[in-house]
Amino acid sequence: MKFQIAVENIGKIQLTSDYWDCECIENYIHSKHIDKCLRCGYRPDEQPDSHVVELVKYRQSIGFDGWL
Ligand SMILES: [Zn+2]
Repeated sequence: MKFQIAVENIGKIQLTSDYWDCECIENYIHSKHIDKCLRCGYRPDEQPDSHVVELVKYRQSIGFDGWL
């Protein structure tokens, strides 16, 4: 399946509403299907959407190019 995400342009920054950032130092990018981070306890409705560039880097770093 092709990896496609919703991208929102805010100035020069691209955010995706399909992922969110929790408050963890690492592995802080979560799919919106994850409704709570089990490490820090934050939920997506309390947290910002993920930056597309960080999401792409993260996917490359774990060698996974499908959906997280
Ligand atoms: Zn977390």
